[in-house]
Amino acid sequence: MRRNRKVKIIATLGPASATSEQIEKLFLAGADIFRINMSHTSHELLRQYHGIIRKIEARIGRPICILADLQGPKLRIGTFAEKEVTLNAGDIFVLDSDATPGNATRVCLPHPEIFAAVKIGDHLLLNDGRIRVEVTDVAEGRIATRVIYGGALSARKGVNLPDTIIPLAALTPKDRADLDAAAELGVDWIALSFVQRSADVAEARKLIAGRAGVMAKIEKPSALTHLEAILELSDGIMIARGDLGVELPLEQVPGRQKQITRAARKAGRPVVVATQMLESMIHEPVPTRAEVSDVATAVFEGADAVMLSAESAAGAWPEKAVETMDKIAQEVERDPHYPGIIHAQRTDPEPTSADAISAAARQVAETLKLAAMVCYTSSGSTGLRAARERPEFPIIVLTPNPATSRRLSLVWGLHCVLTPDATDVDDMVSKACRISREEGFAQPGDRVIISAGVPFGTPGTTNMLRIAYVGD
Ligand code: PEP
Repeated sequence: MRRNRKVKIIATLGPASATSEQIEKLFLAGADIFRINMSHTSHELLRQYHGIIRKIEARIGRPICILADLQGPKLRIGTFAEKEVTLNAGDIFVLDSDATPGNATRVCLPHPEIFAAVKIGDHLLLNDGRIRVEVTDVAEGRIATRVIYGGALSARKGVNLPDTIIPLAALTPKDRADLDAAAELGVDWIALSFVQRSADVAEARKLIAGRAGVMAKIEKPSALTHLEAILELSDGIMIARGDLGVELPLEQVPGRQKQITRAARKAGRPVVVATQMLESMIHEPVPTRAEVSDVATAVFEGADAVMLSAESAAGAWPEKAVETMDKIAQEVERDPHYPGIIHAQRTDPEPTSADAISAAARQVAETLKLAAMVCYTSSGSTGLRAARERPEFPIIVLTPNPATSRRLSLVWGLHCVLTPDATDVDDMVSKACRISREEGFAQPGDRVIISAGVPFGTPGTTNMLRIAYVGD
């Protein structure tokens, strides 16, 4: 079974997509990756999702990728004596360390690190950016602010501090427990929320210890400042536009999306565009024109994956949302403008054999109009470098490693197939040709290009290109 598009689709699981039947329908509709949001998922539920997905994978015979998204150090205010209070522009509102319920003049901020980090003039955003206040005075355990935009505020709403680097641990105790549970189960990617600097990624990387890919979510201005260093230490990047659009002026998000997509592609790291892509489909069976255009823009940019959040987790039309993304992606990839836009962002290969072989394979395949590139990879790194070329033809990744086949299923254009390593050159050629045909990428008489490493089965040895005819 093959997809008729290069970009991948991530569907977040939740109450609207929790059963085996619902998850299988989403997979068949086009979801390549399932995201489990640890902000709303117990370890028991994580285990259930994982078990369901692995059973579907075994039944269908295709690798399915699982992404566990850690909550991260999300900051929240305390509680109020009333259900909610209203703040008006110009009001003085105090955030303090007093745990008693708040009112319209003050509330508890149960994060002592913030009192030492904020400065007069910094802005704080409350309730996902709906309320903006400016710091007018800071004392021990007390921040006085003036309300710039007011609104209703209720217990435990989120706090964002776009102007402030907060000396918070990248991983809370909950994140550490969730990370361990997810890595032990064998999820394929772990996403880190509210990354501020590369050291945050390094810390998580050490704990994950190769058990899953490390995906840094870019949602803080400080992460943008340190983007290159974060990319260097991450296996993938997510443009988490929900929080990014709270921390940055909204009109800056599209430009940053382009910046991050291009930087990730240059680095050869998969990049996910996330949040509110088909938001209206939470309630409606048809998206808005603007949402269709947003998904299309991400596909034209060459993003590796586009993501559904509440649309698939809690919406009324999860399957339709996946089908809609699939249709938009296929249409964009058939558009005559698509190859030119994608190729305009191509960057030179780096001086490694994997890059040189991948670039040469693309040139040969495009010149000779070959049916596909077949790439033998054990760790997955050659597959990633082949995808970085964004070739016009399909890339089939052959790997003996189930973890590689699943992890690479998130990457642009890669169709992963689990198969034992080739034993010799004849076996390499016959297996590549047979799988290209069986998986629907080549007909008898077509030619494919094969990349591999000799000696076979030794990671990091990609050193061979071969053109082969597909037989009957
Ligand atoms: C986001 O903020 O866009 C995001 C993907 O993270 P979360 O859904 O965890 O808020």
